Amino acid sequence: MVTLGLDVGGTKVLGIVLDEAGAIVAEHQEPTRRDADGLMERLQAVAAALREQNPDVTAVGVGLPGLVDRAGTLRFAPNLPGIVELPVGPGLSEALGIAVQAENDATCAAWAEHQLGAAAGTDTALLVTLGTGIGGGLVVDGLLVRGANGFAGEIGHMVVDDGGIPCPCGRRGCWERYASGSALDREARDLVAGGGGARLVELAGGDPRRVTGVQVTAAAAEGDPDARDVLDRFADWFALGLANLIHVIDPSRCVVGGGLVAAGDVVLGPIRTALGETRLIAPEHRPPVEVVPASLGPRAGAIGAALLARDVQPG
Ligand SMILES: [Zn+2]
Repeated sequence: MVTLGLDVGGTKVLGIVLDEAGAIVAEHQEPTRRDADGLMERLQAVAAALREQNPDVTAVGVGLPGLVDRAGTLRFAPNLPGIVELPVGPGLSEALGIAVQAENDATCAAWAEHQLGAAAGTDTALLVTLGTGIGGGLVVDGLLVRGANGFAGEIGHMVVDDGGIPCPCGRRGCWERYASGSALDREARDLVAGGGGARLVELAGGDPRRVTGVQVTAAAAEGDPDARDVLDRFADWFALGLANLIHVIDPSRCVVGGGLVAAGDVVLGPIRTALGETRLIAPEHRPPVEVVPASLGPRAGAIGAALLARDVQPG
């Protein structure tokens, strides 16, 4: 079965065609538009371009950044503030004349990592994607967890600091404000604004305004104490949220995706340490939970959308 997967990112709409063996046989992308009509137009354009070259596609999957209900309506997307209650799945299906399955993007990515990536072979796994926010997906006893409405896995909006930093979701103290890629960027800027982080500024070409989390991980890899402090604090926040989730679903493996993870053990090492030492109940009485990098990279969401499209009836 050949299926098509679409993934709506902050900057681009990525589309891929996946063959029966799970290999990507075609790919196309266009810049994201952040209004409802523009988003639908881009999704149609990417899908149409790919189907023209791959007429054997039998169904389409779409990963969307927000709450997607089981009918395929994007109900709320904190990072696409103009878009609410948009029937992406039904609208796209009508426009393209093919069955369409719409899901949360991180749910798609989790399924991809479980079927073809770093969580393959596990029964119960947690996927956490670090980007502007934190996306998540849960696989429990071999099944993808969607919840009553399709809204399960909104782990980034688990509150870890009541009354804390404001979040685009409209509340305060969400985990993603403390432990996402953008949270690390903010910590890096705060360090530099406070007069620290000389090595970070050097690595950013001497311009303090260009300092982001990228320089934190690079400087920490060299052993820079300021960068290590920032990363240790970040790791502790990350481990706090991870431990809460581990206590709920008891995974054997946590797969961490997103750009930050390219730095490898510089980031994952302090997270493993914080998790084992301070955050889990009875660490000495449980098998260690593996914390590993995702393996499918930025295409995980589109691959997962294509995999989930295999389950829908051809339209
Ligand atoms: Zn939030």
